Amino acid sequence: MEVREHLSQHERAEQLPLVTESATVTLAEAMDRNRTEEVEDAIREQLEAVDGANWLSEIHDGAEYQWEELADRLDTVDISDYRRDDISTLVDRFERAYPSLLRVRVRVDEKLNFAPGQYVTLQFHDTPRAYSLSDSPNEDELGFGIRRVPGGRLTSDLFQELEVDDQVVVRGPNGEMTLDDPSNRDMVFLATGTGAAPFKSMIDYTFEEDRDTVDGEQRDVWLFLGCGWEDDIPHREHFEDLAAERENFHFVPTLTREPLLTDWDGETDYVQQVFIKHLGDELDETELPNGFADMATEQPKTDIDERIHPENTELYACGVTAMVTTLVRAAKAVGVPEDSMQYEGFG
Ligand SMILES: Cc1cc2nc3c(=O)[nH]c(=O)nc-3n(C[C@H](O)[C@H](O)[C@H](O)COP(=O)(O)OP(=O)(O)OC[C@H]3O[C@@H](n4cnc5c(N)ncnc54)[C@H](O)[C@@H]3O)c2cc1C
Repeated sequence: MEVREHLSQHERAEQLPLVTESATVTLAEAMDRNRTEEVEDAIREQLEAVDGANWLSEIHDGAEYQWEELADRLDTVDISDYRRDDISTLVDRFERAYPSLLRVRVRVDEKLNFAPGQYVTLQFHDTPRAYSLSDSPNEDELGFGIRRVPGGRLTSDLFQELEVDDQVVVRGPNGEMTLDDPSNRDMVFLATGTGAAPFKSMIDYTFEEDRDTVDGEQRDVWLFLGCGWEDDIPHREHFEDLAAERENFHFVPTLTREPLLTDWDGETDYVQQVFIKHLGDELDETELPNGFADMATEQPKTDIDERIHPENTELYACGVTAMVTTLVRAAKAVGVPEDSMQYEGFG
């Protein structure tokens, strides 16, 4: 299976039709939070459990923590691999630059015609990169959800410098992952991280244009979104509000790391596993590949009563390419027809 990927995006970016050389930035705001103190407390608590209550203060040289020294100390105590991994995950989060998730909006002079699910190329300081359009084409401005890639050429500039009233170049639109014609099939969106961006556009448009009702029947619309931490969920409030407003929209975030910081009691498994937990019971578990069969019998942590019936589903998957490959493999294994699937990898 080949996940469509924009492998030569940098070369191709400049061949897309120019929309404008001077789109004006109207919003550049963090979607994640600075959780340094919370993370520090969590590391301290983990260390107390291995008799290292004072270690954090001891490895602080007045300016910053010497994490290599912590690793050396941990080698001297009897500690489980799980706890060692948890501490290392928390240290990574402590070191993570803030912000790492940006919501950006730009104003273009003439309304851009695009299909929900498509992307454009944004260029700032001579570096062009592809970004999915996260807002509905019914909106006047173009919206984006952008994750910082450590050391990344464009995102380093965007996160350090981008401000309201800056100008960016926009080319496009492009991309083949767009909504199928309305049908009686339910819609399932599987995303990791900023893979939610094109789905926000597609989902908003679906409800704005009443495409969730066909021949008087409502279709269920599901969004399964996998992130590490709670504040990594792009557009979280928007999706939560929509789920509260629309009884046929089901928003299922799954957070693999959040329990290290809070008492998050939602889903923590991988997106494909959480999707499988929400399937109808017509599924024959014995035919599922290893790792999926157990999930099919597990109870979801959500209070959603509806269930997904793979053969009557149109499915979209988006995120980092390796994840999308896994999501699509799972969808095929449970019987989503191949011609009812669309997916895109971000590289
Ligand atoms: C069709 C399409 C749509 C996209 N939509 C979005 C979007 O909506 N939001 C968004 O944040 N990004 C999106 N991307 C990714 C985006 O185009 C850039 O690749 C990303 O922002 C990194 O750019 P950079 O210049 O900072 O890093 P670069 O300097 O280009 O890359 C630095 C290194 O990081 C790796 N890398 C690139 N992207 C990622 C990533 N996402 N995670 C981990 N490592 C990575 C590269 O392989 C490279 O090794 C999309 C990509 C494609 C192809």
